[in-house]
Amino acid sequence: MSESLSIGADRVVSIHYTLTDDAGTVIDRSGDEPLGYLHGHGNLIPGLENALVGLSAGDEKTVSVPPSEAYGDVTEPEPQRVPKSEFGPDADRLQAGMQIVAQGSDGSRIPLWIHKVEGGAVWVTHNHPLAGKTLTFAVKVADVREAAPEELSHGHVHGPGGHQH
Ligand code: ZN
Repeated sequence: MSESLSIGADRVVSIHYTLTDDAGTVIDRSGDEPLGYLHGHGNLIPGLENALVGLSAGDEKTVSVPPSEAYGDVTEPEPQRVPKSEFGPDADRLQAGMQIVAQGSDGSRIPLWIHKVEGGAVWVTHNHPLAGKTLTFAVKVADVREAAPEELSHGHVHGPGGHQH
């Protein structure tokens, strides 16, 4: 356990959090184990990451993050209908909220989200499911430590709460 390190670039941070939307509905929360992330490497949405700078283990903070610092504004009003048959053998596993990657005509990778699955069709959208929402995170910092060289080279956390390799 690190002694009173504060959150900043290249440190490994573990947080407990509860995420609620504008209506106060809980969208997500950490489980029994805190979420571990490497600070300053784009592993959290910018508005949350910036608000945690300077906190130490044991600190609590409630952070309200506007769409511009979270998942952006809703930019496409109508999700597009795609026949299930175009998704091949994976079609039956598709659920609302899942992310998929489509291939553009120029070979580029286009991230899309499933808006809904209904009957023989899947509605897809460019918008993240949380686009357009102001997100409130109630955070308690569990631990802050220095990153290992390997974690810095990979850009993410290893060990409990992170990648296992
Ligand atoms: Zn790694």
